[in-house]
Amino acid sequence: MVKACVLKCKEYIIIDPIDPNNQNLIKMFEIRHLGHPLATIPLSEVKDYCKNIENELFASVY
Ligand SMILES: [Zn+2]
Repeated sequence: MVKACVLKCKEYIIIDPIDPNNQNLIKMFEIRHLGHPLATIPLSEVKDYCKNIENELFASVY
């Protein structure tokens, strides 16, 4: 599953419940897209037209 800003920004990050760093990235994703409608949906529904911004978020933290 991914957390995605499908309607506005067309960006997503993959949800990994086991990875503690992932929790932080998801929080940052939510802050970045504050007020935007976010969806938790399968990767297959977004990968063709949304951009994975995990690396971008990760780079801004570490
Ligand atoms: Zn957004």
